[in-house]
Amino acid sequence: MSINIQRNQKKRVVIVGGGLGGLRLAEDLYGSGMQVVLIDKNNFHQFPPLIYQIASAGIDPSSISFPFRQIFRKQKDFYFRMAEARMVDVEKKILQTSIGKIDYDYLVLAAGATTNFFGNKNIEEWAMPMKTVPEAMGLRNALLSNLERALTCATEEERQELLNVVIVGGGATGVEIAGALSEMKRYVIPYDYPDMDSTLMHIYLIEAGDRLLSAMSPESSEHVEKYLRSMGVNVLLGKMVTDYVDHRVMLKDGSSIATRTFIWVSGVAAQPIGNLDRKHLGRGGRIIVD
Ligand SMILES: Cc1cc2nc3c(=O)[nH]c(=O)nc-3n(C[C@H](O)[C@H](O)[C@H](O)COP(=O)(O)OP(=O)(O)OC[C@H]3O[C@@H](n4cnc5c(N)ncnc54)[C@H](O)[C@@H]3O)c2cc1C
Repeated sequence: MSINIQRNQKKRVVIVGGGLGGLRLAEDLYGSGMQVVLIDKNNFHQFPPLIYQIASAGIDPSSISFPFRQIFRKQKDFYFRMAEARMVDVEKKILQTSIGKIDYDYLVLAAGATTNFFGNKNIEEWAMPMKTVPEAMGLRNALLSNLERALTCATEEERQELLNVVIVGGGATGVEIAGALSEMKRYVIPYDYPDMDSTLMHIYLIEAGDRLLSAMSPESSEHVEKYLRSMGVNVLLGKMVTDYVDHRVMLKDGSSIATRTFIWVSGVAAQPIGNLDRKHLGRGGRIIVD
């Protein structure tokens, strides 16, 4: 297998990742006189701010997924390859990918972030992250199938487990998905599931810090907490999740919450790419820049 892109007299810039950053750069390089090669493990760009709408079945994946080949249809000296970046030989200026090597004059790493489970293997295995369209689809499928099973399961205990939703992480994504699910509980479930008691659906939003949206102003935190509580979300602040055992989310204070819908939106780490600049990595695998 080979990447199969001929060199010409122009300088070549290789961009890894066609997310918000990589896409913008590739577009801005239009007319720059350089050969632009965009490499992404998917052949579509996704728009993360609306991922919570996919997860809560509000919109379809095609509304926030856009094929690269369509976006760059008219761009000259532009090449897209669907591949995973694996290693970089900085000395020789070669990028190793899942479909072969490519040499470059300039390399731009824009592979984004992934979920940080802080080393907890149990949580990594069982919790559902929500950073990509496929992950949001997985969450949506689990949520809807748990609702179906809640109608036919054998015991009250199991029903409650299927109807409880636990979201860990009170940042923007946690707040968004908690709000969207509380709207679903209020405005969709009573109509789509008329023979189910929607009040049995309990939504928990757990945050280890003492306020939601800690990156924003204290007023925003206060406002969003009040609003979510008024929507029926159980907001738990200052609570640390430590494990997930037998369908129960375990908290550091010794309490636990039974759930089959365990959503983890609590941490980010840089997307690891093989040997990339290991010695220059900072917190969460971020590359230290000047
Ligand atoms: C659920 C959610 C909601 C968000 N909401 C907002 C919001 O409302 N407002 C806001 O400003 N920001 C929001 N963000 C943050 C925002 O999406 C990111 O800051 C932004 O996408 C980062 O851009 P990026 O180009 O660095 O990476 P990304 O947009 O994540 O793109 C990374 C790209 O790299 C590709 N890739 C990854 N690894 C490889 C590899 N090894 N080889 C090849 N390709 C690879 C991926 O497929 C992807 O296309 C949200 C994020 C999430 C997850």
